[in-house]
Amino acid sequence: MYIPYGHQTIEEDDIQAVANILRGDFITTGPAAAEFEEKTAAYVGAKYAVTVANGTAALHIACLAAGIQEGDEVIVPAITFAASANCVLYCGAAPVFADIDPVTYNIDPADVERKITDRTRAIIPVHFTGQPCEMDEIHRIAAKYGLLVIEDGAHALGAKYRGKRIGSLHSDMTIFSFHPVKPITTGEGGMAVTDNEKLYQRLLLFRSHGVTREESLMEKNEGGWYYEQLELGYNYRMTDIQAALGSSQLKKLDRFLARRRELAKRYDRAFEGVPGLVTPKQLPDTESGWHLYVLQFTEADRNKVFADLREAGFGVNIHYIPVYHHPYYRKHGYQDVYCPNAEELYSRMISLPLYPGLTEEQQDIVINKVLELSKERS
Ligand SMILES: *Cc1c(COP(=O)(O)O)cnc(C)c1O
Repeated sequence: MYIPYGHQTIEEDDIQAVANILRGDFITTGPAAAEFEEKTAAYVGAKYAVTVANGTAALHIACLAAGIQEGDEVIVPAITFAASANCVLYCGAAPVFADIDPVTYNIDPADVERKITDRTRAIIPVHFTGQPCEMDEIHRIAAKYGLLVIEDGAHALGAKYRGKRIGSLHSDMTIFSFHPVKPITTGEGGMAVTDNEKLYQRLLLFRSHGVTREESLMEKNEGGWYYEQLELGYNYRMTDIQAALGSSQLKKLDRFLARRRELAKRYDRAFEGVPGLVTPKQLPDTESGWHLYVLQFTEADRNKVFADLREAGFGVNIHYIPVYHHPYYRKHGYQDVYCPNAEELYSRMISLPLYPGLTEEQQDIVINKVLELSKERS
């Protein structure tokens, strides 16, 4: 029996929602995409939402909408999926890595402040594992230095910071991913949300070739066929097939989150106080989306534990390799970057299986194996 670290939950009504689109007139971006945008914006508490082909595309158009360009620096956490930093490189700008907080594993606001230069234009806090970053502190720093904030909420759809959902914290923009392991899925898919109408218009432009038919944005109007390309945009549109799946999944999000929280609590109860294990800590006043359950092994040899868990048939994983470790980054000026907290976490952590469809019987098998392996001293 193979138990992956993450897995989508697709039910009969999700399949029906997709089939209905395939029988209709619109299969690419149409009314279902508009409906998914409206429903997600209402759910997270943002004014505007723009669906896109994937979360990486959402990060890219958010950086473009923010006007990030060559010569700019954008501060990102050292521990994240590479896309959070790659989006800055796509714009010709330079990601600057801030270390993580050793307790929450999220970007450390104090290190963000230390990494600010006169080239810094924006901060991309990543709500790692679904646990919200210390957004009050990040907003305070952003306001003090005149920086934009683009939240990477790929793990955090439905998560709450001080009672408010991620997406409603009045950052300039927030992005979400609908990859199959994420809180809800559209196969591939992403979304950027904002309260700012100008940024919203720019997100729309960059999603679709930089083209508009919006009269107020055009230089002139030569007739009903007429449109203008105002920016160098992309084709990052989401299909209605995906969007219909998204709307159907969104209805289940609270149920999925409750189940993830329950399973995370069971892991906590099993591992808390066990010598050699460090369970993930929650900030008071936050509600994690529990995208990942990251366990630290402080005594056993992490690499051996990882290999043994894989051998046992568990699709455990490591989230993430510090981004600046990657050969591409080392070859492009990042060879001397070193974030000590990120390094320590990276050397000790393993992400255990966590997804709504995981049964307690399966989880108990994982728990027993982890407890057995944690006793082996390196
Ligand atoms: C998944 C993920 C992304 C990118 O999302 P895709 O939809 O896979 O392109 C960005 N940031 C983080 C932190 C992610 O986990």
